[in-house]
Amino acid sequence: MDSWSDAHGRHRCAACFRQFNKMEHLVEHMRAARHSPHEPRCGVCGKHCRSFEALRDHLGAGGSTLPKAASCAGEFAARGCKLCLRVLASAAALQAHRDCQLSRTPPMARLHHQQQAQAPQGGGRVLALGCKMVGAGSDGSLDVVARVCVVDEQENIVFETFVKPLIPVTHYRYETTGIRPEHLREGTTVKSAQRRVQDLLLNGEQPWKARTSRGRANLLVGHGLDHDLNALGMDYPAYLKRDTATYPPLMKTSKLSNSLRFLTHTYLGYDIQTGHQHPYEDCVAAMRLYHRMKRQQHPRRGGGADEPAASADQAFPAWRQRELERMTPEELLRLSTPDYQCWCLDD
Ligand SMILES: [Zn+2]
Ligand SMILES: [Zn+2]
Ligand SMILES: [Zn+2]
Ligand SMILES: [Zn+2]
Repeated sequence: MDSWSDAHGRHRCAACFRQFNKMEHLVEHMRAARHSPHEPRCGVCGKHCRSFEALRDHLGAGGSTLPKAASCAGEFAARGCKLCLRVLASAAALQAHRDCQLSRTPPMARLHHQQQAQAPQGGGRVLALGCKMVGAGSDGSLDVVARVCVVDEQENIVFETFVKPLIPVTHYRYETTGIRPEHLREGTTVKSAQRRVQDLLLNGEQPWKARTSRGRANLLVGHGLDHDLNALGMDYPAYLKRDTATYPPLMKTSKLSNSLRFLTHTYLGYDIQTGHQHPYEDCVAAMRLYHRMKRQQHPRRGGGADEPAASADQAFPAWRQRELERMTPEELLRLSTPDYQCWCLDD
């Protein structure tokens, strides 16, 4: 009997602990799972989970009725943080960890502060974008951008404007946007908003250069960025985007996106998008989620092992099936590369 198979000859995945009757099945699982040290992990048993939602279920902290891991759930209930899901060393350490819970920043306070602050240079290396849409078309269901906000890493507003839509607005969605016709009449054109956002993001870098190498260009954080960028009629290189709607650890187990409102409530501990919604709040929430993800301490393996393989859908490209089947589950895990770029790798 091999040391890594159990008394029944089953082979256990070193990351998610699933068991397989045959080694070839484990290899197949490892090809699909793309386990890595960058996955969310249980602070008690070390199990890797595909998403924080799956980890919450494992710890008995989610809303799901899936069977939790009883011993892990017990430890978590005693000294685990319900927001970042870390298991602290003691109840006292958990108490000291209270600042994990963030509170809502009133946008008006920041707006006022902004007026007195020096004109920001947009050199924060990371900017968050948020847009609010109003409705056009016969039934008002067509989204057109009406308000744009860009926030830096210190949560200062770098750019904020109302936008004059190109086509007639049929629904101002006043209950959620707080936007009235007179706001938009004073607004800037979509074109000039787009140009300003583009300038802030590129930060002096040439657009054609930023397509392949970052240079001075800023990372762009947001929630559902493609929707916002489309509305502004612009694009931005995918490798510079950090989207909380499509980042695998923040997605549902079903691989659908969570809402920003849900993510903020669940992982930052406060509520947004109540009453009239200012895009500033969305920018700040996305930026805070980004920071929380970025500051995770994952063991680095170095080289290319932390990054998705060049051919992103292929795991273990350099190895033959036979060779893989002779490896231990731990060896397989060491060779496994993730299929997304972990934000902890951002400098
Ligand atoms: Zn696994
Ligand atoms: Zn990581
Ligand atoms: Zn566990
Ligand atoms: Zn925490």
